Amino acid sequence: MATVTLRGIQKNFKETEVLRGIDLAIADGEFVSLVGPSGCGKSTLLRIIAGLESASAGAIEIGGAPVDGLRAADRNLSMVFQSYALYPHLTVAENIAVPLRMRQLSAAQRLPLIGRAMPGAAEQNREIDARVMEAARTLEIDGLLERKPGQLSGGQRQRVALGRALVRSPAAFLLDEPLSNLDAKLRVHTRTEIAELHRSLAATFIYVTHDQVEAMTMSDRIAVMMGGEILQCDAPARIYEDPADLRVAEFIGSPR
Ligand code: ADP
Ligand code: MG
Repeated sequence: MATVTLRGIQKNFKETEVLRGIDLAIADGEFVSLVGPSGCGKSTLLRIIAGLESASAGAIEIGGAPVDGLRAADRNLSMVFQSYALYPHLTVAENIAVPLRMRQLSAAQRLPLIGRAMPGAAEQNREIDARVMEAARTLEIDGLLERKPGQLSGGQRQRVALGRALVRSPAAFLLDEPLSNLDAKLRVHTRTEIAELHRSLAATFIYVTHDQVEAMTMSDRIAVMMGGEILQCDAPARIYEDPADLRVAEFIGSPR
């Protein structure tokens, strides 16, 4: 796992300033939530960290190394979206294995001997199966490996998406409102599971939500964003007891 450091991240879409200089240093193993009203720039910031979008200015380091020139696939981060984007025609096991298959494929493409069998392919496949099984056990979906996504509940699907994130042993997890498609009861349950996953992996998590309660219960620190800026980043209790600014107090204190 790794530290994530953001320095002066700015983003403009045409004339619109969406991020106005984001500075944030996330410790190794820390769980940081980004909260704020819809449209404040949370998803854009996460996508920039993931390498799915480029920043207009600023720098990002992961594990102390700059990643600004690296493509998403080379940043070793796992992103989980609100829509789980599972492949409907693949089984749960195959869905979880996707990131490892992609890695296998890109390694094969780098081999000069096109058309020949990959050296150690059978061994690699066994390794992939073992890692898929381990991720599935962690998320308690090892009984569902042969099913297709259409045969799963919403909560199970979300766990498959988490399994796919887990299997690649990323430097950090980036989650963008992963619970917002679940009903209220399942949301509480899955939130507890994500918190447990964080504890057991001691992994770095950046977790986007517009739900203050969710952020409050899961996070080491909460970054409150508004209008493309971080107004305050502090431990949950601190945010509640000592909001830096009236806008923070209003957002945190407002019922959903
Ligand atoms: P949040 O996730 O906090 O709801 P977003 O990061 O999705 O906010 O969006 C922040 C702002 O940037 C919004 O005003 C949105 O309309 C704008 N925006 C996001 N993506 C694009 C894009 N590709 N082109 C133009 N504007 C965008
Ligand atoms: Mg968003």
